[in-house]
Order: sequence, then structure tokens, then C-alpha cells
Amino acid sequence: MADRLVSVAVPVPALGLLTYRVPPELAMPAPGARVVVPLGPRKLTGVAVGQVSAADTSFKLKDILQVLDAGAFVPPDVVKLTQWVSDYYLAGPGSALAAALPPYGLSNRVDRFKTVRVVALTEAGVVRLKPDTTSTSGTSDVDVVSGFSRTLPALGAKQLQALQLLQAAPEGMTVPALGAQGIGSATVTRLADLGYVAIRHDRVDRDPFEHAVTAHTPSASAGPRALTDEQQAAMSQLLPHAVARAFHVALVHGVTGSGKTEVYLRLADAVRQTGRGVLMLVPEIALTPQVAALFRARFGTAVAIQHSGLSDGERHDQWHRIRRGEVDVVIGTRSAVFAPLANPGLIIVDEEHDTSYKQDETPRYHGRDVAIMRGKFTGALVVIGSATPTLESYTNALDGRYSLVTLHRRVLDRPMAEVQVVNMRHEIAEAGAEVVLSRALREAMAARLAEGQQSLILLNRRGFATSVLCRQCGASLECPNCSVTLTIHGTQGLPGRSAERGGWRGRCHYCNFSKLVPKACEKCAAPYMERIGFGTERVEAEVRQAFPDARVARVDRDTVRRKGSLVEILEQVARREVDVLIGTQMIAKGHDFPECTLVGVISADVGLGLADFRSAERTFQLLTQVAGRAGRGERRGQAIIQSLVPEHYSVRLACDQDYRAFYDKEVEFRRAMRYPPQVAIVNVVVRDKTFEGAMAVARDLAGAMRGARGFVVLGPAPAPLTRLRGEHRVQLFLKGTSRKAMREGLQLALTRFTRSSKAIGVDVDPLTML
Ligand code: ADP
Ligand code: ZN
Repeated sequence: MADRLVSVAVPVPALGLLTYRVPPELAMPAPGARVVVPLGPRKLTGVAVGQVSAADTSFKLKDILQVLDAGAFVPPDVVKLTQWVSDYYLAGPGSALAAALPPYGLSNRVDRFKTVRVVALTEAGVVRLKPDTTSTSGTSDVDVVSGFSRTLPALGAKQLQALQLLQAAPEGMTVPALGAQGIGSATVTRLADLGYVAIRHDRVDRDPFEHAVTAHTPSASAGPRALTDEQQAAMSQLLPHAVARAFHVALVHGVTGSGKTEVYLRLADAVRQTGRGVLMLVPEIALTPQVAALFRARFGTAVAIQHSGLSDGERHDQWHRIRRGEVDVVIGTRSAVFAPLANPGLIIVDEEHDTSYKQDETPRYHGRDVAIMRGKFTGALVVIGSATPTLESYTNALDGRYSLVTLHRRVLDRPMAEVQVVNMRHEIAEAGAEVVLSRALREAMAARLAEGQQSLILLNRRGFATSVLCRQCGASLECPNCSVTLTIHGTQGLPGRSAERGGWRGRCHYCNFSKLVPKACEKCAAPYMERIGFGTERVEAEVRQAFPDARVARVDRDTVRRKGSLVEILEQVARREVDVLIGTQMIAKGHDFPECTLVGVISADVGLGLADFRSAERTFQLLTQVAGRAGRGERRGQAIIQSLVPEHYSVRLACDQDYRAFYDKEVEFRRAMRYPPQVAIVNVVVRDKTFEGAMAVARDLAGAMRGARGFVVLGPAPAPLTRLRGEHRVQLFLKGTSRKAMREGLQLALTRFTRSSKAIGVDVDPLTML
């Protein structure tokens, strides 16, 4: 009989798929089942990817040791998805697979779970293959590992003793109780791996909704309400696709406040009724509870949330709830695209333009694009929505690859915010270079305070000052590890410190290095260190000074470091305990603050100076989105945008809230410059301890691709961030119209660098070029 072969993905980032023999006494593992395989001297748990017909028989293949699941542990379409991710993004199958696994991955290690109970699963000496149904509530986490009794090796004395104890305790025993009898967690883990026992969370699943933002949930959203004409039209366009059981992508371009969420909810309802699941991706953790609460109000407890802000235990619970099929709707951030939902029929990607959908470590996948592939594999409708779609998505819609659904107006004919631009060049001429709040903005804020309404102030730069500069020799404070200057932070926020006592601290926003700003210049000893530029901390100080009685809150990465603090602040805003909310782009995202009638943008130009071909698009998106936060309630909103270059088209067209005009202009620029979406780009960054070392590898790599067809190689050249976390960085760009040619060419070139491959970062469809 010919060998039966199976390919296995192991969670080791650098490894490709491995081929193993399935010995005669073992059943062929289903795709997605966990298998134990030998790898060198180690034994690893991996996931079976599929049968292999013929293999290179020049060396002897090893046998798999065990099959841990009778069916799939990871759903087969997710296994396929991770393979696609690994191919498309040139990441090892191991790293792609790891992205799809629950915390603690494939292991049954009980020592990580303090609250588990262990239940014997033997029935007349035979391992039960069906899930444990003895638990009384549907919420306990029964994680049965089914094995095959034929293949079980003889048990050791400790293992037998454990089973005897457990058989005498039908309700199971906790891990500490077993420990008291001399049964360690290693024994329990082993028995669980073998399928003799189930590990069960004795408590009700930790429910992340305990912390959901209830104040955010408008009461009207509890029940369905009459759709607006545009929502109705969108539904008639989308509904047939939602129930068609065929792959389709639709871009919903709806202005801020046009009621996209209501459309998503209706589609979700329709898809649930066909017996299929719904997956909804949102960009920001803080938005998850808000959206999740809306879905929960409509669909009850069949909603799970998955995102990286949950504790490992919460994520583990949610992952297994989804896998057991207890959930119809999964809401989460980027990584939820891999949620083990059995049969998704609708996949929604809200705010598809948001850059947080892109993972900035290997595998560098884009959640939206993976979502579209998942829809393709499962025959689902994929809805991507935004008020400011990416050029890529809008182009796909215009080209007919996606259908386009447009919502032009806000619900209930609420007007868009009235937008006013303040030319800061004039303001500076009048009030001096130090001016932060223009007169127009101050007056508008004062009016809001007098009327008891809220204001939102955006500056997309944190810290107090951008840097310090010696007025005598021009030296600034630089990061010793990265090629950037340190951002200046006040230390008032820190417990027990005041700005007077603690002084100012310079901090690197890349590696987090920090030090106190010296009184005198480190180069020339002159005592004239001047703070230049400003960030959100400075804005907060200015606002507090101008309006001492206002209740002010600030949201940026410094103030929301603690888990849940962003949600907390947003709740305060929703409860109207805050008059002025200051923040970075975090406050521009889809939040719905009905009582906010004024939005101020301190400096619209922050992003425009960056060496990034997407800077105009980013600026347009940010300004349009933040202006869209104003006046979502009954009262008309106002936005005041301060800019040094008000004539720039991204600023001007954001003020007009004219997406189409912006798109037409920007796509022209991209075409002329040969940038995406006109062409595809792959960014390759080589890192090394020395600049010369990085350059040498980059040159070799470029040489290996010389003469390739279908793309060009640009560089090597020093990356804009030449040094990062102590390493030197050299960059190559691949540009072309055939992603396939680029992938294959680069893949081939990379095989020559297996030893240094860890120091070569590949970013397909990069969102940042730094
Ligand atoms: P978007 O996501 O398009 O910016 P939302 O979905 O947040 O907009 O909707 C904006 C506001 O309009 C929300 O407060 C929502 O509850 C409300 N809304 C949505 N649809 C309707 C409707 N058909 N009738 C009344 N209010 C609606
Ligand atoms: Zn640094």
C-alpha cells in the first residue's frame, strides 16, 4: 500500500509546511485536526493541512505520533486562509497559523488555567468521542480532546492514579485539588492530550461584555426602526447577495452618520436566518464594545467578541465558544478574521480605510484583504464600509470588481457639519508663532461651554513638544537607538511628580527610550534648550488655561495605556461628564457622540510633511472622519480646521466633504507617479548591526532579482528610519503590476538567504514606507 501522507503546519514561524507519514494504525487526520509530530528531538503539536499525494521520497519521512481530534480543530476554511496568508504575504505557514490559533495555541497545558476542573472521560475504558454534555450551563468551557482508543499508549502509574481519582469524582476535580493528591499539572496535561480527561472551566465564561459601554448604546437601537430611503435602497442592493450563498464583495460608501451600522445589523439578521454566521471586523478595540453592544441588543447572547485587548483567558473562552458553535455573530478587531466560526455567510469590515487593519509584524496581513479571501473560500458576502474608502477599494468598486453602494446623506436629513478653515499663517502673523488655539476656535469653544455642549479637539501628535533644540548650537535630543529626535513630555501626569520637580522628559516613540531633558545642551553646554513644536499635552494645557472651569479629558496613547481606560474616558464623554475631549486620531474613529457639536483640528498638516505617498489620502480621511464626529445628534455641528496650507487639496476637499473630487485628483497623482493602486508594492527591509552589513545583504538580494520580469526593483537605499531599536535598516522596493511575479521573484531570491532571513522583513502592500 502506498504511504498515506499529510502536510502539517507547525507553529514555528520560519518553517514551511512539513510532510509526514500517517502510520497504518492511525486514521487520516481531517484538515484542521491537531496532530502530534516529531521535529528533530522535539515533539510538537501542529495542524493537519491536507493529504499529500506524492512526496519527494529521496529521504525517509517521519510518522505522525498522534491525531488529537476526530474532526477539525481549526475550521478547514481557516486553515486554507492561513495558507493563503502565508503565500501572499511571504510569511512562514507557522506564523500565519499562529495568528489563527487561540491563546495558548495548541496546547492543553492546564497550569495556565487556575479555574479549570478536570473531568474523567472514560466510559468502560474507552475514550468518549463526543463532547461533554454533562455540564449544566451552556457556558462552561468544555474542551474535549478526542483521541482514538486504539492508539493510546499504556498509561503510567501517576496517570492511572489520576484517572481513578477522577472516576470517583463525577463532578470532576480542580487542578489544585488534584495537586494535593500528588497529581501535577504535567500529568493532567498529558491525560488531556491523550483524550482521557476534559479540562473544563468551572466558572461561567468570562464575559467581556461586563465592561461593555452601555452609555454608548442609544436606546433607539434596541429594536429595529424604519429605514431611511437610502438605507432601504442599500438593503435592496445587498440583501440578495447576503442570502445567495455565493461570494460577492460590496463597498458601502456612506457619509459619516448615514446609518451604515443599521444596514449591517439588518444584513446580519437576514444571514443568521439562513443558518450562517456573521463576522464583523472593526478597527479599534474601543469601538468593539460599542458595536458589540448594538449587536447584543439585537441578537442576544449569540454574539462573541475577539480582540487583542482581552485577557488571554477571555480570548481563550471566546475562541472556544465560537468553535463549539455557540455563537452566530463574532465581532472583533483584525485578528478576528481568523475566528473559528463554522460557516460565515456575511463578513463586514467597518471603516475599511483604517490602517490598524494592517498587522505591523509578521505575518503582515491586511484584515480587510484576508476577510475578502475568507469570503471567497466560504462563499460569503463581504461588505466593506467607510465614509472615506481607500483608493484601492474605491478603484475596485469603479472597475466593477466590487459593487458600490452609496449613502449620500445623514439619517433623518441631519445636516453635515459646517466646516471652516483657519489659515494659521495669518493667525501666526497676528498672535505670534506660539499660537495653538486660533481665535475662531477659542470663541467657538467658549460658545459651546456656555451652552453646555461638547467639543472635540484633534491633534494627531502626542507629547508636549515635538523636540527640544539648543538655541546656541542647534543640537537636539536624539534617541540613542533610533534615528529620531525625542518627543518632549511633561511629567505632570505621573504620580508624585510635577513639571517643576520632574522637569521635562524626552521619549522615543519607537523604542520607548526616555531621559530627563538636561538643563544645558549636552554638546555645547549652553543653558538654552528650547521646546519646539507641540502635541496633545500642550493643547490640553492651553485649553485648561483658556477655560479653567471646563471639564477636560485627553485621549492618546499616553493616557490610555492601561487596559480599559479608553473605554472609560469614552463613557465619561457619553455621560456628558466631559466638556472638551482632546486627542489624537483615536478620537476621530467611528465614535458616535450625539452631544458633540464642535470639532476643532489644531493642525491639519501634521501628516502632510511625511515622506509617504499616502499622506494626502491620510489627511483627507482624518479630517473628513473627525469633522463627521460633529453634530450627529439633533443640533447642527461645526468643524474648525486650522492649517498652514489651507490651499492643499486634501485639506480643501475634506472641508467640502467631497470624497469623489478627492478620489479623482488623488488617483491621477498615483497614476502619474506609478504608486498603488496603479501598481503593487513590496517593501523589503534588511536589518543588521552595521549599516554596511545591511547594505551588503540588500545588494545581494537586489542582484538576485535583476532581470526579473513583471516588476522593477528600486534601491537598495537607507530606510527613512535608518536606525531603529539599535539596528541599521536598508530598504528595497519592488514595484509592478503582477503581484504573483513579485512574490515568486522575491521568494526565489530569499531562498539564498536562509541564514540571515530573520533580518529580512517583507511587507507586501505596505501601508508605511518607513
Ligand atoms: P455611520 O456608521 O454611517 O457613521 P451610524 O450607523 O453610526 O452612522 O448612524 C448614525 C446615527 O443615526 C446613529 O445614532 C444611529 O443610531 C442613527 N440611525 C441610524 N439609522 C437610523 C434610522 N433609520 N432612523 C433613525 N436613526 C437612525
Ligand atoms: Zn528609539
